[in-house]
Amino acid sequence: MDLNVPLGEGGQVMDDTRLRGALPTLRSLLARRAAVIACSHLGRPKGKVVPELSLVPVGERLAEILDEEVLFPEDCIGDAARRLSRSMGDGQVMLLENLRFHEGEEANAPDFAEQLAELADVYVNDAFGAAHRAHASVSAVAKRFAERGAGLLVEREIRQLEKVRDSPERPLAVVLGGAKVRDKLPLVRSLLSRVDILVLGGAMANTFLAARGITMGRSLKDETLIKRASEVLGLAEDAGVTLVLPEDVVVVSEVAPNATWSVARVREVGSHSIAVDIGPQTCAAIESALAEARTIFWNGPMGIYEMPAFAKGTSEVARIIANQSAHTVVGGGDSAAAVRRAGLAPFMDHISTGGGASLEFLEGRVLPGIEALKLAD
Ligand code: ADP
Ligand code: MG
Repeated sequence: MDLNVPLGEGGQVMDDTRLRGALPTLRSLLARRAAVIACSHLGRPKGKVVPELSLVPVGERLAEILDEEVLFPEDCIGDAARRLSRSMGDGQVMLLENLRFHEGEEANAPDFAEQLAELADVYVNDAFGAAHRAHASVSAVAKRFAERGAGLLVEREIRQLEKVRDSPERPLAVVLGGAKVRDKLPLVRSLLSRVDILVLGGAMANTFLAARGITMGRSLKDETLIKRASEVLGLAEDAGVTLVLPEDVVVVSEVAPNATWSVARVREVGSHSIAVDIGPQTCAAIESALAEARTIFWNGPMGIYEMPAFAKGTSEVARIIANQSAHTVVGGGDSAAAVRRAGLAPFMDHISTGGGASLEFLEGRVLPGIEALKLAD
């Protein structure tokens, strides 16, 4: 399962969306009297035991939600886990400690996978958020089970994202924002032959604006990618893609929650100014560009949405997308959080639990965690 939930200062679960996402599969297995051993990573402990990244609080929350005892051995492999797994009764639940406390997890190590596999008879992967990584719990372990398959969440993710990737109702619009332009450039490139409308916002747009000679002052951008961004813009034009880039932005002289801000046309951003959100004209342009779309995929916030003053563009785009009759799919941790915060989750057709995984899937890349579930041909 993907139980990689955000934890607060005191180790409490701040948002249990991922935990709840795992429940349908868990409940379905328990209803059929399976003894279920759940496992997940949490954060980046890099192969060492980091007490702050223990899954204990997650197990406690899980026990609360299920109103059942959750067994919790202190290590995900070894004697205690093995002994407990053998003594489990039908319909019991055990949660293993953070898989990444062992180096073998991220190294996809055969011996670590072997020790995990010893615990169970059947393997179910419901961790879509980890499916793009070749890690032991999703890759090496799967092949050690003759009986293996996808959980309900993974199945739904694949069905929804396959529809966007392979058979979207056209026009297809893709809205991309956020900061990880290096990660997202390959997706943009691969989309050009399939997408009708491409909207770029957030920090990622700055690199594309720079490729058009619009320098955007001190705004966050990746100088090393300007040439590639420029190539992509050329290809988009050749492919006849309707491209929407910010026309106006919210600018500040220092990034701070209470900074004084103003709206500037992108060509008039001062050399010391920093763009932190898209402006009202850009929102209007996005609304009219998306009006005719029949399928919309959105990833990445339009600004520094963590600061309420600069969250307007993101919540406006969330509202615009939620209002469309098009089939709407949202991917990415931050975009999903923004949609939930705006109370618009019920109006989207699908909110992916995978950030990187949903992008790599749409790009057409093989996801190791999904590949490993396939039975030998
Ligand atoms: P997602 O998780 O949805 O895939 P990313 O992780 O790529 O999105 O990007 C999210 C981050 O991008 C947020 O932390 C947000 O503050 C940042 N961001 C968006 N626009 C800007 C901007 N104009 N300047 C700096 N950071 C930005
Ligand atoms: Mg993110």
